[in-house]
Amino acid sequence: MAFTENLSSVDGGLKSELGKKGIVVATLNELYNWGRRSSIWPMQFGLACCAIEMIATACARYDIARFGAELFRPSPRQSDLMIVAGTVTKKMAPQVVRLYNQMAEPKYVITMGACSIAGGPFIDGYNVLRGIDRYIPIDVHLPGCPPRPEALLYGLMELQRKIDGQTIEKTEWYQKGLKREYPVPECGPHGLIPKFNPEVWAPREVDHRKERYGEPVLIGKKDKAPNLDAPVAARPAATSASSASQPSAS
Ligand code: SF4
Repeated sequence: MAFTENLSSVDGGLKSELGKKGIVVATLNELYNWGRRSSIWPMQFGLACCAIEMIATACARYDIARFGAELFRPSPRQSDLMIVAGTVTKKMAPQVVRLYNQMAEPKYVITMGACSIAGGPFIDGYNVLRGIDRYIPIDVHLPGCPPRPEALLYGLMELQRKIDGQTIEKTEWYQKGLKREYPVPECGPHGLIPKFNPEVWAPREVDHRKERYGEPVLIGKKDKAPNLDAPVAARPAATSASSASQPSAS
């Protein structure tokens, strides 16, 4: 991720000398960014175990208040930052996107943990979304299962660096025609509809998992799992082996 630096016409050495005499020299952008990066209000919600680490970050030992980000807001309309902490199930994804849409500009998103980045240990689960970045834009990805509170603080500092590189003239939320409300997916019979938001994400042409590990092997089953994306008529009928493995009603 590349960040641009705010350039001030005043020499750094001169600035520091003036600072010693109590004279502060700053550009409007520096003041603007300093105010915003020092008062990031995260939204108060968590989805799974990663949320416990997020809560720990706000407690006395790690003390996220040192970064001005301790005011977890219970309303998306008062929040600057969404921390997607935990497993995003397909049932919960529409709510996450709706909350993002309800946040006021400027808004930022940190995905916390392997689950919210790519499904984590549940990547092959039928009910788990393989990354919330399929529906909303992400500013900082925090890998780990779970990432420790120090990692979340590091992610917050990375976000502060990003904010530091923004300028009033070029920030998106002052541009005309800004649209940062994305379609809220719906639960369909075979997963979410749409499967992803093409404005922020597109599937890779090459599936690196398949290249590296080959076709998925289903241990303990004689039948391949049905392709839930195929129309119902095109799916193979259940064989006697699979029906024999079902427990009897009696
Ligand atoms: S990444 Fe690990 S700790 Fe975080 S929600 Fe997923 S399983 Fe839990």
